[in-house]
Amino acid sequence: MQKLVLAKQIKFDQGKIELLNQKLSIFPVSVFSTIVDNNPKVVPDVYQATKESAQMFANEIKKRHKFTGQQLKSWLKDIVSFAGWGKAEFIIYDEKNFASIVRVQQSPVAEISKKKGYTDHALRGFFAGGGSASMETDLDCIEIKCVAKGDSICEFVLGKKQILKKDHPEFFKSQLWWLNEK
Ligand SMILES: [Zn+2]
Repeated sequence: MQKLVLAKQIKFDQGKIELLNQKLSIFPVSVFSTIVDNNPKVVPDVYQATKESAQMFANEIKKRHKFTGQQLKSWLKDIVSFAGWGKAEFIIYDEKNFASIVRVQQSPVAEISKKKGYTDHALRGFFAGGGSASMETDLDCIEIKCVAKGDSICEFVLGKKQILKKDHPEFFKSQLWWLNEK
């Protein structure tokens, strides 16, 4: 059912692909992962841009289909798979405490990354933006397991900035360092 909703939302026209008023283009994962691998300085931009883009998608879908938190969460999980970013599953979705854990199998960016580390900055941003929209508060995201590092899956923790900073100080420092300056 959700997949059908997604399939109807994507529009192909001569030389154009659009999903929920945002322009898309299909390019090999290697293009993206090479840029991120070679330029660690782009991490904040990748994260912030995907966060904003996910928020725009989620707000559009809220408007069109009146999706609420849980429905939006399922939609987010589906769009990640649909768009070829891996198979996502929410392990925890705690609306009361604004906390979530998402596991992703077969992240293509992690699978082909040449760096041994946490590589899924776009997915982090996407979950941060989508999670913020579905829980209706500003959330951020860190990756605590990654296939590129040698883990069997990628795992993401979503939460409020201050909580992530307190509970996962090392990850916060290495993945969201620029938020410290704000
Ligand atoms: Zn990963």
